[in-house]
Amino acid sequence: MAVFTAYTNDQIINFLKEKAPHADIHIDDKIAAEHTANGKAEDSIEGKILAYVAAGDKEDIRGVLQTAQKFHLPIIPQTADTSTVIGADGIDGGIILSLIKLNHIKEINKDDSIAVIEPGVINQDLDKAARKQGMFYAPDPASKPISSLGGNISTNAGGLSGVRYGATKDSVLGLKVMLTNGKEIKLGTRTYKQAYGYDLTQLMIGSEGTLGIVTEITVKLFPIPLGKTITGIAFFDDMAKLADGVKAIRNSGLYPSMLEALDGKTVKALDRYEETNYAQSDKSSLLIFSIDSASELKLKLSKRF
Ligand SMILES: Cc1cc2nc3c(=O)[nH]c(=O)nc-3n(C[C@H](O)[C@H](O)[C@H](O)COP(=O)(O)OP(=O)(O)OC[C@H]3O[C@@H](n4cnc5c(N)ncnc54)[C@H](O)[C@@H]3O)c2cc1C
Repeated sequence: MAVFTAYTNDQIINFLKEKAPHADIHIDDKIAAEHTANGKAEDSIEGKILAYVAAGDKEDIRGVLQTAQKFHLPIIPQTADTSTVIGADGIDGGIILSLIKLNHIKEINKDDSIAVIEPGVINQDLDKAARKQGMFYAPDPASKPISSLGGNISTNAGGLSGVRYGATKDSVLGLKVMLTNGKEIKLGTRTYKQAYGYDLTQLMIGSEGTLGIVTEITVKLFPIPLGKTITGIAFFDDMAKLADGVKAIRNSGLYPSMLEALDGKTVKALDRYEETNYAQSDKSSLLIFSIDSASELKLKLSKRF
């Protein structure tokens, strides 16, 4: 015969406070609203969370997981909360577990071309710290100044440099992940070559917090390319011709570090918003490109599209 025990919210919160002694624990409506549905409580489709918990250390993370297990509560990991697909939003009666305070860059190792960081480190902060040592962190979602590495990994974020450097998954070498039972596992390694066993690191990437809590991340860094970066725009009659141009650039051996295609409607919308005058016709398309280490190259336009 199943035996059910009912607990009050106060009993749950008291247990949580005991198990997560260094965390900021908020149960007030204002904080709950701010961290539910990207800060727009009126847009919430799921309801009100029980608590928002910003962990101060791993003991706190474990404590939140234990609380959730004991009282059968859903947990929603969250870091910088910039997700545009409600992945980090609270759900009714759940606990938002925020990793935003775990924001230390533990190591930047130029010899090994890697960095080891906590999940709350903001993408741009890691990149800036690496650049001080002549390296850079490549993945560049448009949210680079505001989103975290923990969130980038859990969504496999990617941006304009993806054409050369790939998305987040292409820069992650290893992870530490805390499972729902509070056990922390180590996936991957610090080396660029890893050729044995199942690739559980890649399984975690893009899993949006459904498999565990990312607690530590080892990423690749690249040396800043020699020479000067060239960034420019090119116009094409339509998207088909632009695509031909992109194919030619990609096969040329130039290795562009950024390509972004905008169709005619998007260019017009941009013109309206920015009060610019780029749109040449309804169809005309625009390619933004960047080539790093290009100063020694003499770029010749040998073909017209
Ligand atoms: C202006 C703007 C521009 C954007 N541009 C891009 C873009 O160019 N490319 C792109 O890919 N995305 C983009 N995004 C979406 C968003 O920034 C990314 O998805 C980003 O990776 C989320 O990071 P975050 O730290 O905000 O994560 P959150 O929003 O806090 O969380 C995102 C997801 O990851 C999970 N999660 C967070 N932290 C952890 C953790 N430590 N362990 C386990 N799971 C975790 C959450 O549960 C949620 O499912 C943009 C968003 C905005 C607002």
